[in-house]
Amino acid sequence: MKVRNIYLFVVLFLMGFENLNFPGDVPEGSERTSKTLIVNGDFEQPHWQYAYGQPWRDEMKSTGMYAVPGEKIMVTVPVDVLNKGVKVLIGVHLDDLSRKENPKRDPIVTARKELVKEDVRKISRNMASIEFHNKYGGLIYMLIPTGSTLGDFEVTVSNAVKAPHFVLGEMTNEEWIEEHSKNPAPWAELETSKMILTLRSTHVRNMEDPIRLMEFWDRVLDADADLAGFDRESRARAERIAIDDEISMGWMHSGYPMMAYTEGVAANLVNYERLSTQGDWGFFHELGHNHQWMDWVLDGTTETSCNLFSIYVLEKVVGMEDGGHSAISPEAREERRRKHFENGAKLENWNVWVALETMLMVKEAFGWEPYTRMFQRYMTFTTRPKDNFEKIDWFVKYLSMETEHNLAPFFEYWGVPVSDSVENELKDYPVFENYFFSQ
Ligand SMILES: [Zn+2]
Repeated sequence: MKVRNIYLFVVLFLMGFENLNFPGDVPEGSERTSKTLIVNGDFEQPHWQYAYGQPWRDEMKSTGMYAVPGEKIMVTVPVDVLNKGVKVLIGVHLDDLSRKENPKRDPIVTARKELVKEDVRKISRNMASIEFHNKYGGLIYMLIPTGSTLGDFEVTVSNAVKAPHFVLGEMTNEEWIEEHSKNPAPWAELETSKMILTLRSTHVRNMEDPIRLMEFWDRVLDADADLAGFDRESRARAERIAIDDEISMGWMHSGYPMMAYTEGVAANLVNYERLSTQGDWGFFHELGHNHQWMDWVLDGTTETSCNLFSIYVLEKVVGMEDGGHSAISPEAREERRRKHFENGAKLENWNVWVALETMLMVKEAFGWEPYTRMFQRYMTFTTRPKDNFEKIDWFVKYLSMETEHNLAPFFEYWGVPVSDSVENELKDYPVFENYFFSQ
């Protein structure tokens, strides 16, 4: 390449390949303002076994403020908070799209900065101010590292634009409508102590009853806690679902935040009528992933046991009895069983929906409680299964103990091998009978 061509390439690269329109500019004339809030700097890491929920990530504390693309914001915190791993983050869209072809937005659109002494611009009465900007702009968060014990501290965010930010328990529907819903930032958040939704402001501008919506989401999260077997109020942090124009993988994915597409999905996140009558399999499925404990996730069942959570939420919160997904209609289930046994009931085929069939049959015979009690049992273990066969052994053994039935012959019938020693341990329980055995 000639020197002039390289120069041209660099200019084109700098000018032409950046798309600064996402997450987007603020409307012309939007007031730059400041906001002071109290942030809780205590954050105990969620258990690492909930790995699909990215428990190692810093907790994101919403400020309800939006940084204008390319404009400096000022963040002011107590001097004591400096050099403690606390960061400021601009932008919620953390998925890196570098590996995607022609992504709808630039691959990396967020920016973060650790609050350290060297960067302080001014100190006044023990409060230190640090400047920061992101050329893409975005919602502003304080990031609290895992293990932090800073307690409550005051944060002031200046030279930013207010975002529509609903917080359950802190405002009425009327206050939302009159004071918050019309805030100029292009992205909005709806928050409870258990769940935080991030999406374009256009989806919430005309929302009249965010209380009803967010109480619904709290019930979803409570149902997940109930099935997973932990106290509803014991979450280390709220879960998050954020909407993006493009995400790193899948139609949605689990994590912190869980991510989902704008197109065809975002509106459903805040559609109470739809959620409360038909639920949303996709969101409930991803939330299910965030509640999977690694040691009871057998090989091939990552996309299985998360669906126990979707089905549980659809049943308990939405009131649907038929499972809420065409893949688990009675006909589809019958067909799936037939095929699995026709194909010789092989372990390699025992995954996703097939494995769900096995797990659902246990639920249908004994209810949800044995699962919850088994999940609770796992939380007390101090050792770990060494491989997938031992994982299977544990799963069958403890589910058998909780149902007070010997499930080993049933699992083996499905092609899931149980060791002789576990079979022997379970031999005094009555064998779990079902129509397969009587055929
Ligand atoms: Zn999944």
